[in-house]
Amino acid sequence: MTHPLYLDYAATTPMAPEVALAMAQCLTLEGDFANPASLQHSLGERAYHLVETARSDIAELLKCKASDLIFTSGATEANNLALKGLAFSPQNTLKHIITSATEHKAILDTCHSLETQGFTVTYLKPDHNGLINLETLLEAITPDTFLVSLMHVNNETGVIQNIEAIAQALQERQQAFPNHTLYFHVDAAQSVGKLAIDLSQTPIDLLSVSAHKCYGPKGIGCLYIRNRKRQHLMPLMQGGGQEFGLRPGTLPTHQIIGMATAFKLAAHSLEKDQQHAEQLAQFLTEQLNTLKGVHFNGDQQQKLASIINISFDDVGSDSLMIHLKDQLAIANGSACNTGTIEASHVLRAMGIEGDRLYGAVRISFGRYTTAQAIQQAGQTLYNEVLRLRQLALEL
Ligand SMILES: *Cc1c(COP(=O)(O)O)cnc(C)c1O
Repeated sequence: MTHPLYLDYAATTPMAPEVALAMAQCLTLEGDFANPASLQHSLGERAYHLVETARSDIAELLKCKASDLIFTSGATEANNLALKGLAFSPQNTLKHIITSATEHKAILDTCHSLETQGFTVTYLKPDHNGLINLETLLEAITPDTFLVSLMHVNNETGVIQNIEAIAQALQERQQAFPNHTLYFHVDAAQSVGKLAIDLSQTPIDLLSVSAHKCYGPKGIGCLYIRNRKRQHLMPLMQGGGQEFGLRPGTLPTHQIIGMATAFKLAAHSLEKDQQHAEQLAQFLTEQLNTLKGVHFNGDQQQKLASIINISFDDVGSDSLMIHLKDQLAIANGSACNTGTIEASHVLRAMGIEGDRLYGAVRISFGRYTTAQAIQQAGQTLYNEVLRLRQLALEL
């Protein structure tokens, strides 16, 4: 098999070699494999300290308290725990949730499930550029609203919501409701380690984190819950009481160490990674802009440089992807809709239609993508778009 150029970093990233090494040291008899809850012996104690050091390292990146982090299997579980945990909390009597139509399926499907259980959900439509209008959001709030859930960076377009401004506005609006809390949850799966997040300054109540979008292992993440709100969440599972009983199950030391190592690396190289991504984005954009009928989807200013969503007039994304399968690993639609070619719900919600909707592909890259690879990918795409257009003319 030829190894295609990997340009699907928004689906998952390759693990940093430093992360793999740190994880390997937590697996075998010689390593820190013990159960971090086995405090009766020193091996368990060691594992416990490793886990708690990792928790502090992650808290440092997010500028929050270590005790406000609950380890989960990833952002999907963190999103489920946040939404269902609050909805079904014994303290909660309210029924209305606000989210956006461009969220990840882990939010949308959880909301759909809640709708079948007596909750009502408003799915805000973004502007054409993918940004949620703050006024529209504030107008959607009713006395029955207990939760606003919005993503930080969109996984398909890279568009960055201004969560700082939204959090401030919601905090002000809270004053209209002295008898209940209006929670703000942020799905930060695509932004942690790529954009600075400061929970000490931003009044976010809950935040979902994933390791594998940022050079860490798959299958681990965490949910940040601002301290005084933890007891308000209902656990999704019952078990051994780990993580304050909110997320029972033996803590996977290797996964947690892997996540912390990845985030420490990311914090260290945040600016370097950003500059690298910007440079690659510029190369690719310039190269593809020499084609006619090219559309970049989503706001091009308020956007992560490492995700490019693009449509080519008269070229379907499925034929482009099929022909480039052995050369480029890129994505169309949502990566999670495996096997089905379904138009992107994100672009559709942004009001993008027709060719531009069905032709959209996502190219995403990162720390290990070289300028040479990007230029090669750009050339390959360029040639294939021209070839497919020529072919269509000849039919
Ligand atoms: C990848 C992703 C998720 C799911 O995260 P997992 O850790 O894979 O469960 C949720 N939200 C967004 C925005 C994502 O990109």
